[in-house]
Amino acid sequence: MTEPKTPVREGSLEAPTRHAVDWKNPIFYDEADLFNELERIYDICHGCRRCVSLCHAFPTLFDLVDESETMEVDGVAKQDYWKVVDQCYLCDLCYMTKCPYVPPHEWNLDFPHTMLRAKAVKFKKGEVSARDKLLSSTDIVGSLAGIPVVSGVVNLANRMGITRSVLQGVLGVHKNALLPEYHSNTAQKRLAKHQTTISPEATDQTSGQVAIFTTCYGNYNAPDIVDDMLAVFEHNDIGVTAVKKEVCCGMPKMELGDLNAVEQAKNSNIPALIKMIDEG
Ligand code: SF4
Ligand code: SF4
Repeated sequence: MTEPKTPVREGSLEAPTRHAVDWKNPIFYDEADLFNELERIYDICHGCRRCVSLCHAFPTLFDLVDESETMEVDGVAKQDYWKVVDQCYLCDLCYMTKCPYVPPHEWNLDFPHTMLRAKAVKFKKGEVSARDKLLSSTDIVGSLAGIPVVSGVVNLANRMGITRSVLQGVLGVHKNALLPEYHSNTAQKRLAKHQTTISPEATDQTSGQVAIFTTCYGNYNAPDIVDDMLAVFEHNDIGVTAVKKEVCCGMPKMELGDLNAVEQAKNSNIPALIKMIDEG
């Protein structure tokens, strides 16, 4: 009598194992190897289709398959694989909430990490537009657009049809797309000026203080969010300060596949955060 086989466990029945992105290994940028992996995971996803409602990456893939001659992944032109990659904004939802084939499942399917790898390959090949490089430099754009007077001009221009048409022509930003306002009185300036009356009290588990990492959006575009956080914390007698040295978190550069820029941002932010944590 043969022994019964141990059933394969679904990956997402427990916390998934996340393998580190091996982005400094030369094989990571090998396009042929990448396309083999893309074909493998696209084929699994085509047979599953569970993530169809999450974002536009999956419907793009399934349309490409359904409209191909074979109605299988082998009927999709390799060049069209990029269309799926371009639709992924790396939110991680498919990995964290849907996919039964994430590691430790033997199929070892990590859709977002594979999209990230494809974006990094594209960036390294220089196939990223100047527009994308500019728009993903959120800290530089924010610091320029947030200069007093300039911010008013930028906000006015963003509301005018004629300048929006120019913006659409030059940068490809749709003239009807909602754009955030820019503030010269940034969240970091407000936090620096804020006079607190709170005397934080440490507990067994906390120092009774928080440091706010404002982010580019919170700092330049929506400082009122940071004002609100400050009010809520102080209402609860929690002392608030700003992170002393903050640069962009790097997420826009990650979506671009510019992993060196992400590493630079990380190397600047993490020591500043750790220092503040160590100081309480
Ligand atoms: S990580 Fe990418 S593919 Fe997955 S749900 Fe988010 S946007 Fe879609
Ligand atoms: S990522 Fe996983 S759950 Fe989503 S379609 Fe692909 S195989 Fe299915």
